Amino acid sequence: MANDGSGHFVAVIGGATAGAEVASRLADKGVNVFVFEQNARPYGKIEDGLPRWHVALRNKEYGVIDEKLQKEGVTFVPSTKIGEDVDFKELVEDWGFSAVVLANGAWRDRPVPVDGAEEYVGNGLVYQNPFVIAFNHHEKGDMPGATYELHDGAIILGGGLASIDVAKIHTLQRTVEVLRERGIETDVEELEIKGIPRILEKHGLEWDELGITPPTIYYRRRIEDMPVMSAPPGADEARLKKVEQGRARMVGKSTSKYLFNIEPLSAPDGLIVEDGRLAGIVFRRTKIENGRVVKQDETYEVRGPAIISSIGSIPEAIPGIGMNGELFDFKDWDIGRLDGFPTVFSVGNVVTGKGNIVASRKHASAVSEAAIEAYLGVGEGDRDAAIGALTAQGAEETVGDVLDALGDAAPPSDHAAQALRERVGKLHENVGFTHYAGWKQKVGDPC
Ligand SMILES: Cc1cc2nc3c(=O)[nH]c(=O)nc-3n(C[C@H](O)[C@H](O)[C@H](O)COP(=O)(O)OP(=O)(O)OC[C@H]3O[C@@H](n4cnc5c(N)ncnc54)[C@H](O)[C@@H]3O)c2cc1C
Repeated sequence: MANDGSGHFVAVIGGATAGAEVASRLADKGVNVFVFEQNARPYGKIEDGLPRWHVALRNKEYGVIDEKLQKEGVTFVPSTKIGEDVDFKELVEDWGFSAVVLANGAWRDRPVPVDGAEEYVGNGLVYQNPFVIAFNHHEKGDMPGATYELHDGAIILGGGLASIDVAKIHTLQRTVEVLRERGIETDVEELEIKGIPRILEKHGLEWDELGITPPTIYYRRRIEDMPVMSAPPGADEARLKKVEQGRARMVGKSTSKYLFNIEPLSAPDGLIVEDGRLAGIVFRRTKIENGRVVKQDETYEVRGPAIISSIGSIPEAIPGIGMNGELFDFKDWDIGRLDGFPTVFSVGNVVTGKGNIVASRKHASAVSEAAIEAYLGVGEGDRDAAIGALTAQGAEETVGDVLDALGDAAPPSDHAAQALRERVGKLHENVGFTHYAGWKQKVGDPC
């Protein structure tokens, strides 16, 4: 039986996969959880990352998040950005929360690693996050400011799953457009499920007849290194080889179904600027030695109508949180502890950097069980099992130390709890929120 955690108040920053998971787990243990979300809807990368053809997966995950955020004990605080609408340090130190959980994901694109590239954003250079967000919302038209353009022969910098999605957006959507011009109706969902060649075959058409120049993904490693499948921790040589073969098979299936190109062993090394616009990239050939990327002497130039960078997402800075380069300056990379903020924990993408739903949810659940619930004194009491869960996340080195250092958190006094509820009430008033179901209706369905 869990302890009664009803005296504790916990703030969660970010209401999507990881945030909703922690909120739900803590609420089940009687903790009062307040989930601060910058957007009106809480779905994070489910709505604004996964391309819109993932209809079934997106709907399922929307349902999972809704259910968790509507639990008794969870209070949703939408359209409230921590670091802008509420100061982070104040939230942690003055509001009376026993713990604050960062579940804010990774919303900033990693900058192109070539000097001067940032000058050309919107002028030849596009980043993946705004591109996918605009693509997802385009049909629904609920984000009029967000626009995206498709360019035949686009240059995509990347190599991970997200860069494959960017390439697919190009070939799928362009195929829809060209077929429509020929009086053939289809959509990206159908094309994504069946693959472009099968649909073309049905209409007696060949890809070359469509006149679409596909995009190319330029990747600095080999195709068999593309992180579309990960190796289990401690995998031996034979297992790693199998994973590499699996990756090559997966990528090959994707390029033949969606007809984009990949140029491996190519790292961006310089900019080609023509008439003040980014017109192409100078690539440097690489080779892989003992798993490391080694730059070679050979360079080559590629010109294209647009360069879309999809080389990873990093957390958006929150004033008050120290940075270490592109990342939060965590003193502990397993459960995202920050120097000077002993009551702060972190879950999901913001700390794992692993870009998938299952990894975010598992990490959130493991950190909640092994660290946050232990800290609040609301866990099941089986400390070894909790540590086991975190160890499975690769956190064996630090979890013991962290837990030893933690005492039971003190819940706020009745007076402080009342003041906290009033502060949240003010935020609700500002945005016109009364309850979750009503708010959902007010802000409309996700795209
Ligand atoms: C193009 C693309 C395709 C993908 N495809 C897949 C796929 O097919 N399968 C899969 O499993 N995964 C996929 N992923 C990855 C997956 O979507 C994410 O890894 C996962 O959803 C991350 O969940 P999270 O809760 O950790 O973070 P997020 O979903 O990023 O949630 C963070 C939340 O915090 C909020 N937030 C951020 N900052 C603040 C702040 N300062 N104050 C308040 N709120 C804040 C955000 O609005 C957001 O709601 C894809 C990602 C991308 C980009």
